[in-house]
Amino acid sequence: GATIGILGGGQLGRMLAMAAARFSYRTIIFDPDAAAPAAQLASAHICAGYDDQSALDRLAEACDVVTYEFENVPVETVRHLAGKVPVRPGARALETAQHRILEKEMARRLGAETAAFAPVQNRADLDAAIASLGLPAILKTTRFGYDGKGQARLTSREDAAAALEAMAGGPAILESFVPFDREVSLIAARGIDGTVTAFDLVENEHRNHILHRSTVPASIDAAARQEATRIAAAILADLDYVGVLAVEFFAVPAETGHRLLVNEIAPRVHNSGHWTEAACVVSQFEQHIRAIAGLPLQPALRHSDCVMQNLIGEEVDRLPELADDPAIFLHLYGKKDARPGRKMGHFTRLVGKS
Ligand code: ATP
Ligand code: MG
Ligand code: MG
Repeated sequence: GATIGILGGGQLGRMLAMAAARFSYRTIIFDPDAAAPAAQLASAHICAGYDDQSALDRLAEACDVVTYEFENVPVETVRHLAGKVPVRPGARALETAQHRILEKEMARRLGAETAAFAPVQNRADLDAAIASLGLPAILKTTRFGYDGKGQARLTSREDAAAALEAMAGGPAILESFVPFDREVSLIAARGIDGTVTAFDLVENEHRNHILHRSTVPASIDAAARQEATRIAAAILADLDYVGVLAVEFFAVPAETGHRLLVNEIAPRVHNSGHWTEAACVVSQFEQHIRAIAGLPLQPALRHSDCVMQNLIGEEVDRLPELADDPAIFLHLYGKKDARPGRKMGHFTRLVGKS
């Protein structure tokens, strides 16, 4: 059987390793953290930094294909590996997803809408951007934001100085505030032969900027659902992508139904796709392993409606009650320290089929 390298050893890497094991593939986790949740379940763990070239060369030597579960892996790391072993998805997908401006430019080039935006390097740029986009608006670091970190909301001109300070001097982007009434996401996959499959559109609720709950199906009209699939397929083809990709959208109420704006993409399996392990024949994790290993993709069919909820920090203490519920599929990540805001596990409640 083949050996799959996974850059990043968090819960996403752990669930990828579990899916790979069902296909008799070996997995090697590459992560600087000795206690990485994925390392417990993988065949091996290379505990080294992403800039450690000799460790990366050992990974490349030992693997047939390498993937990543974490989009802040340095692009240099992936380029270095890609000279020695296939890396799927490739460096261009990673580079685009790491940069909010490249990401939005790509979406627009492919005919999707996004929030209006402008690059911001300094106070003069920010003043000009506020004048052209209006308020409210959101200032975000161009790179390395997650769970709402590296963002500041501006409701008046007086917020400008503090917002710019929160960017710590790095490049930023001002986005006009999108008056959405729902947030939705699509988990799609592209195989080595270019076949594309997409799971059903998901409706997401956040708490404290962290995903709280995902509901499937989303209460969104069929035309908007089709538009989401069209956009995801266009992005996958444009990036010559192999593997699972998530696209986050804002859904803005329109005359009939909703208009979709692309918020961001994640070049990996995604928290809003965890329900697929409980409500589909093939999970997002298996689909990703199939894609990068060159196996055929499966139709992304759903057998149940469902609601997935994250267990954040001490919510993991609900375990005995959840374990007793026959409609619940429970998944814990083996993390010892239930710090506030830390994703400890999730559960999916199956609710029949509409
Ligand atoms: P993630 O953890 O999903 O990677 P992130 O830190 O990359 O999050 P975004 O997804 O860009 O950040 O934004 C986080 C949340 O903030 C969004 O899900 C949405 O609720 C809100 N938000 C972001 N941008 C806008 C916008 N332009 N208009 C309105 N709300 C926004
Ligand atoms: Mg993000
Ligand atoms: Mg997001």
